[in-house]
Amino acid sequence: MNWFDFKHLLLVILIFVPLERLLALRPKQEILRGGWVTDVVHLFITGILIKFGLALVIAATIFGAERLVPADWHAAVAAQPHWLQFIEVFIVADLGFYAAHRAFHAVPFLWRIHSVHHSIEAMDWLAAHRVHPIDQVLTKGASFLPVFALGFAMEPILLWAFVYQWQSLLIHANTRIGFGPLRWIVASPRFHHWHHANCPEAIDRNFAGQLALLDLCFGTLHLPRDRTPERYGTNDPVPRSYLLQLAYPFAPKSTARADSQRV
Ligand SMILES: [Zn+2]
Ligand SMILES: [Zn+2]
Repeated sequence: MNWFDFKHLLLVILIFVPLERLLALRPKQEILRGGWVTDVVHLFITGILIKFGLALVIAATIFGAERLVPADWHAAVAAQPHWLQFIEVFIVADLGFYAAHRAFHAVPFLWRIHSVHHSIEAMDWLAAHRVHPIDQVLTKGASFLPVFALGFAMEPILLWAFVYQWQSLLIHANTRIGFGPLRWIVASPRFHHWHHANCPEAIDRNFAGQLALLDLCFGTLHLPRDRTPERYGTNDPVPRSYLLQLAYPFAPKSTARADSQRV
């Protein structure tokens, strides 16, 4: 496994830095805004931890699915046209993501883990990487689980994973892209920015990672036509430094936010 792909990071920077200048939602937001050092550490270190954790989840799922799911189910799923499998993977993976994400908001201990991601106060492509590794392994694991358990072919899975990777960066980016009439179906930056909004109207809204349609169906969509959030973040005292963010879910509540801007 390639643990870190510097060429990919360079490509991401070459795409998103100009995009956030050309179509900025907040033109005055600086590239090196507050918290960027912590988020760079998340990009490198958390990224490796997530890859390691997900590799274990996928291996366990494939091992379990081979024993629990009948072989003719796998054969029937994999025999479908690839374009149809791609659509199905998109739906079942985001259903898994939606359910796990909603649980992370509903269960107090899981929220302490997930609040690290919600501590983002400046939305951009880099902020997408600020996430507790346990959060991402379980949430992405919930996406991967039905996909690998049902036995889809590798090509549709790889195409979906490619789209997921870029879409997760885009929805955090500092852009005003809203996807027009597709905004009710596909998760856009405007959609996910509302998920990060620090205001009562947006609490527990827009859980989907890729399909806004899921929030529409489950009654959790919040997508005002002409407004964007005034501020992002959480009122929870999430520390600013990387190591304390990793420890935050397990730390006594009174000690939080005692650190400085150190990483
Ligand atoms: Zn969330
Ligand atoms: Zn997010």
